[in-house]
Amino acid sequence: MKYYSLNKNAPLVNFREATIKGLAPDKGLYFPAHIPLFGNDMHSEIMQGTNEDIAYRAILPYVGDVIPSERLKKIVTETINFPIPLIPLDSFTWSLEMYHGPTLAFKDIGARFMSRCLGYFAQQENRKLTVLVATSGDTGGAVADGFYGVDGVDVVILYPSGKVSNVQEKQITSLGENIHALEIQGDFDDCQRIVKDIFNNKEVNDKLFLTSANSINVARWLPQQFYYLFAWKELGSKIKPVISVPSGNFGNLCAAMVAHISGMPVKKFIAACNSNDTIPRYLQTGKYRPNKTTSTISNAMDVANPSNFVRIEELYHHDLSRLKDMLIAVKVTEEETAGAINRALLQYNYLLDPHGAVAYCALKKFQETNPESLGYLVETAHPVKFFNAVESITGRTVEIPDQVLLQLQKKKRSLVLEPDVKQVIDFLFSL
Ligand SMILES: *Cc1c(COP(=O)(O)O)cnc(C)c1O
Repeated sequence: MKYYSLNKNAPLVNFREATIKGLAPDKGLYFPAHIPLFGNDMHSEIMQGTNEDIAYRAILPYVGDVIPSERLKKIVTETINFPIPLIPLDSFTWSLEMYHGPTLAFKDIGARFMSRCLGYFAQQENRKLTVLVATSGDTGGAVADGFYGVDGVDVVILYPSGKVSNVQEKQITSLGENIHALEIQGDFDDCQRIVKDIFNNKEVNDKLFLTSANSINVARWLPQQFYYLFAWKELGSKIKPVISVPSGNFGNLCAAMVAHISGMPVKKFIAACNSNDTIPRYLQTGKYRPNKTTSTISNAMDVANPSNFVRIEELYHHDLSRLKDMLIAVKVTEEETAGAINRALLQYNYLLDPHGAVAYCALKKFQETNPESLGYLVETAHPVKFFNAVESITGRTVEIPDQVLLQLQKKKRSLVLEPDVKQVIDFLFSL
């Protein structure tokens, strides 16, 4: 598979180069030269194969021969070594739980796949690779866990001091070894600015083999198709579901749409958004006008200018009316999110996290006007990750899993730095 830059001003690259570079030299996102179609053999694989086989067959055309097949099989198996169950809520609604991975959010899947691919590429290079990433919370933990103990890779995570939750901070800071946590005395924008400055610094990049673990990386984006294919297998070939995806940067939804273009049956996609409603407004008016970012309880979706939306437009050849045949976007307010958490608890004794609740609410709105529609929502995080919000909405305590209790007891190890590029560069050279 070749990848081109969506800015159309950079050379074609293979999966290896696209993964190492992250972003094309013309600052465009990489996009596969074609979307492979599932043939009959893939259909029977999906209905009869194991999850490992399905995932391997789905990702193989995107990786090509840059990773040997035995190694790729191992990477895929390690990526999905936890359950991703489809839980029935009522006779026409399911919840696809993506949060049973080590950091309790769906980002584990992309991060685990990408870290193992990069680990393989670093081995080939025979030089140490440094992954540099800024996080507002969830990405840091998933990346830290994904790369922990991967040979030949150092990970440096910048996070804003005092602005991430307890659980998130421990996920970033307690591992040690090849995982280095820099606690920046500033906000997320400071962290992101420092990382960008370093990637734009030619001298540093000439001396160090640097890459980013950003969510626009093809190796994080494309494996997000896996769990939609598993859900297809669970539902069987007769059901054409509506799929409601809680969306922030739109990578997860875009991966589902890729799987659909390859042949996965879907009736409609719902982009479920919180008050950051750039895309719902865009689909309604045809005008792309991002507002300032608004803080919500579904904070991983607080994105006003979603990076991956341009990939969705590319999938539909920038034809808005064709895109709108397949995709609707629904804005869900904070009150509606809270209402959805309470309603699911009351009706099904099922506890949603705020992100899943946005998707549930959007799906129910659609089903009210389209009563024949079977569908599932994507539950992207374990409710315990947001227990403060969930407890104050439901008035009940959230049971904390042993995995999290253990994590909270671990020792925090971070280096506190001023929001200063030079200090971070010095740290990189000290590794
Ligand atoms: C990152 C994240 C999202 C948003 O996913 P995108 O791929 O950025 O749209 C939704 N829910 C949770 C819990 C997340 O961590």
